[in-house]
Amino acid sequence: MNAPLKIAMPAEAAEAPKGYKLLIDGKHVDARDGRTIARNSPGHGFTVSHYAQAGEAEVEAAVLAAHRAFETGPWPRMKAAERAAILLKAADLIGGRLEEIARLDALESGKPIAQARGEIGGAVDIWRYAASLARTLHGETYANLGDAMLGVVLREPIGVVSIITPWNFPFLIVSQKLPFALAAGCTAVVKPSEMTSASTFVLGDILMQAGLPAGVVNILAGLGTDVGAPMVSHPLVEMVSFTGSTRVGKMTMASAAQSLKKVSMELGGKNGQIVFQDADLEAAADAAVFGGFFNAGECCNAGSRLIVHEAIADDFLSTVKALTARVTVGDPLDDQTKVGAMISSDHLAKVAGYVAAAATEGSSIYSGGKQLASNIGQYLDPTIIRGVTEDMAIAREEVFGPVLSVLTFESIEKALHIANNTPYGLSAGVWSASIDTCMSVARGVRSGTVWVNTFMEGYPELPFGGYKQSGLGRELGKRAVEDYTEEKTIQFHRGQRTGWWVG
Ligand code: NAD
Repeated sequence: MNAPLKIAMPAEAAEAPKGYKLLIDGKHVDARDGRTIARNSPGHGFTVSHYAQAGEAEVEAAVLAAHRAFETGPWPRMKAAERAAILLKAADLIGGRLEEIARLDALESGKPIAQARGEIGGAVDIWRYAASLARTLHGETYANLGDAMLGVVLREPIGVVSIITPWNFPFLIVSQKLPFALAAGCTAVVKPSEMTSASTFVLGDILMQAGLPAGVVNILAGLGTDVGAPMVSHPLVEMVSFTGSTRVGKMTMASAAQSLKKVSMELGGKNGQIVFQDADLEAAADAAVFGGFFNAGECCNAGSRLIVHEAIADDFLSTVKALTARVTVGDPLDDQTKVGAMISSDHLAKVAGYVAAAATEGSSIYSGGKQLASNIGQYLDPTIIRGVTEDMAIAREEVFGPVLSVLTFESIEKALHIANNTPYGLSAGVWSASIDTCMSVARGVRSGTVWVNTFMEGYPELPFGGYKQSGLGRELGKRAVEDYTEEKTIQFHRGQRTGWWVG
């Protein structure tokens, strides 16, 4: 029996919770009906923040402000160099407030502070990358259409974009969307998760300070049904960029289809990490633990299915188990913590329910499996489940907790079959010393990203997104700004028109 976790109360617990107002048309405003949302730290149990809670009236005001800023404001009309300068200034300001933002994300989401710092540092890099793309965005010309015709294809900003984000990487995910929409010249209404809105409000302040004109970015806290849904259906919104669950993503697409809005969907995952006998097993074991338990498994890219060659399964898993025992679970604000708190007690109960059901379906808990006793906060032991078969819920559904399901294979064909036997297709990993094996798996897996002898690295230069029910479209990469544009074809004719239609 482990000793109960001792969670220390941070200095913030003794202070009044921070209050955040909505950002609409460059002004900080309360909700018209005065409602607020309180967010408690899932790791410490005290109230971290209050946000003004938007409803349909605030969505209307925010969309109108974004529409005005798009139709008549300077943002879409200014030189890309000027937009890039503001994005670069924002990147610097984010960097200057890195510790504050990381602490807010750690307190509101329960993620470890050291990891949160890495995410905000990564976000700074993404804002800089988006600034560079603002300046390289361009269309095409066709001078090969005959002497009298010049074809010009423009890339124009698509218009008002609704950006809806989840709770698991609050600052990082808005940074995978917003700077690219801004680089293109779009305006936006942004809704962070109702559980982790604070860092997005800080971003709003930073953007105003960086010189973004009023109305270009509007930020609303609120519930999905009250705020997210009207942000999707609003007739003046041209595009919806959504990251969240596949379930809500489908509802969002169905609603957006009513007005044929463009959608970009980054959804759930059930990713396989495939380990062959000839791999660097020490490195693979460390990556298996990282893939399974990073961000407490509350990660779209979690390598939640460990698919191991039968011949090495016993030895490999005992290494994985030994490493798992060394994973420090506990206070999100402790620099040494690797696995922090679960986002909410409801979510913890859901994850625990998957573990309990797996045990009754015939698999066995090889390691962990318990809620950890603590003086405060909600923590789950990193859990490894052996004897999982492809038909079990734990092998097919996104558990979104620190739970690694182990399946075994005897042939590369079987490994690929297991990896692909899921409605999701976000990412996968393969570990082998053989280039043939790695290439066969990398080509055979139906997912948007495959890591070969590494796991869960990310670079702004590389596109990210899902096959199958993991999403639609790609974020990041050199075409990320193009996603927020429309193409306009202009045909310039010179001289007397030839080939009259009538007469
Ligand atoms: P969620 O789908 O419950 O919520 C996501 C966002 O949608 C929140 O802001 C929520 O308030 C809003 N929302 C809820 N109902 C809505 C509605 N009817 N209309 C419009 N918006 C609505 O997801 P979550 O629990 O916040 O996040 C976890 C999920 O996100 C997981 O499935 C995870 O895999 C996924 N995710 C995917 C990626 C990716 O890049 N593919 C990244 C992170 C998280």
